[in-house]
Amino acid sequence: MQSDSIRNLVLVLGDQLDPGSSALKDIDSNLDAVWMAEVAEENTHVWCHKLRIASFLSAMRHFRDELAKRGLRVLYHELQTDPAHDRGTSFAEVMISDVAAYSPKKIVVVDPGDYRVRHQLQAAADDSWTPIEFREDTHFYCSIEQFAAYADGRKSLLMEFFYRHMRRTHGVLMDETGEPEGGQWNFDHDNRRSFGRSGPPDIPAQKSFRRDATTQQVLDLVNQRFADHPGSAEKLSVPITRRQAKAALKHFVEHLLPQFGQWEDAMWTDEAFLFHSRLSVPLNLKLLNPRECVNAAVDAWRTGKAPLNSVEGFVRQILGWREFIRGVYWVNMPEYEGLNHLDHQRELPSFFWDGDTEMNCVRQSMQHVLTDAYSHHIQRLMVLGNFAQLWGVHPKKFHDWHMAMYLDAVDWVSLPNTLGMSQFGDGGVVGTKPYCSGGNYINKMSNFCSGCRFNPRERTGEDACPFTTLYWEFLDRHTDRLSSNARMQMPLKNLGRLRQQGDLEAVRARAAELHAAWDHA
Ligand code: SF4
Repeated sequence: MQSDSIRNLVLVLGDQLDPGSSALKDIDSNLDAVWMAEVAEENTHVWCHKLRIASFLSAMRHFRDELAKRGLRVLYHELQTDPAHDRGTSFAEVMISDVAAYSPKKIVVVDPGDYRVRHQLQAAADDSWTPIEFREDTHFYCSIEQFAAYADGRKSLLMEFFYRHMRRTHGVLMDETGEPEGGQWNFDHDNRRSFGRSGPPDIPAQKSFRRDATTQQVLDLVNQRFADHPGSAEKLSVPITRRQAKAALKHFVEHLLPQFGQWEDAMWTDEAFLFHSRLSVPLNLKLLNPRECVNAAVDAWRTGKAPLNSVEGFVRQILGWREFIRGVYWVNMPEYEGLNHLDHQRELPSFFWDGDTEMNCVRQSMQHVLTDAYSHHIQRLMVLGNFAQLWGVHPKKFHDWHMAMYLDAVDWVSLPNTLGMSQFGDGGVVGTKPYCSGGNYINKMSNFCSGCRFNPRERTGEDACPFTTLYWEFLDRHTDRLSSNARMQMPLKNLGRLRQQGDLEAVRARAAELHAAWDHA
């Protein structure tokens, strides 16, 4: 193919590795070319974890090779060990130079999952005087237009009602009379167990995958070029090809799903994964389709291989929560990322980057983040997110940290989960109240406190659990903002009791000591 003979330059971004994507569906190998680029900016605009960089690059290179096997022409730019040899620093810069070189008639791309990237691409296409066609991301059950229509005119958006709407619309876990299977929409009551003193039952091993030469090359690159980035890339074991992703789904459904539901909120020392699937990584790279995940889980229930509470809990995460927050992201951007309902301005303490803290729950959770670029949803929400919120971290800074440190974080999924759900920065668009607690919740759901130098029941003094101190100080600080929230009445009533007892001065003093010690640590 001559350089001037390209009809469509079909862009594939790092989180669009969907072999059936709308951009690839009508590609003509005689006329069109796929274009992919590794660019430094995507790994440095937030200071990315080594494992996150490695998994994206390895997945992209494997996808490139798969497309080439299909007979497609792929123009691909690899990052070089020496940055001076890169084709450019930003996606737009590399794209503009290639559009100038190949003069395609049109640029085609699936709608990016990041508002910033969409606008960069539009601007780059405009600068190149080349039309760009954004195609719908058919990976999702619910299009952005469908979600906008659903949201239109509703005073508030509750995930639970959207989830029921999705179950009905797609006939998932519905019986022949149109009612939810099992006679109820959710099994939260069954799905909030802790392990108790005896600890977890036997946990089946996670599926892991051998490194091939492509992955090893990427790891060498990351360890040289991004040596000062956080974390380690040594434990790259998540699926990075479509074949591996399907194998991971099969393994989860057969071995982990049956027990997933009842333990989905539990935590335990040195157990990063428990019964969680970690399928968010291949899902968010689009190596897996949400329909195949939902269908596999529902099939497992129908054939008696997994109980309904587990299957419903898993379906809720994918068909409900994942689709809901994507909709929230797109109908509220770009204003959403600037929201800061609680007016929090602090930086994250340094232990969010190195895990060096005496708080055992935070140390444990950070260990998983540093070695696996992963922690499961309760460690994210009720340990790390909870601490950041109680500490008063700026919600966008927490989102940036999450984007840097987690394998499965892409903007559309991270922003509503962190700024909204975790930090209550949106004032109630995603969640109905701040998700915060003192040490007692962590003590109930894990064994972390028994190995900690702090006491979850103490709120003042040297041994007081920082979560407990900061929880009461948080409620005290935000009493006016939270007093109209029906779901915060009980905590505020309990706070009133402390106030009457004259205990709040000591809580404030202890919180001030913690800030003095850790604010600039
Ligand atoms: Fe975490 Fe507090 Fe328990 Fe220590 S005592 S593990 S800081 S909740």
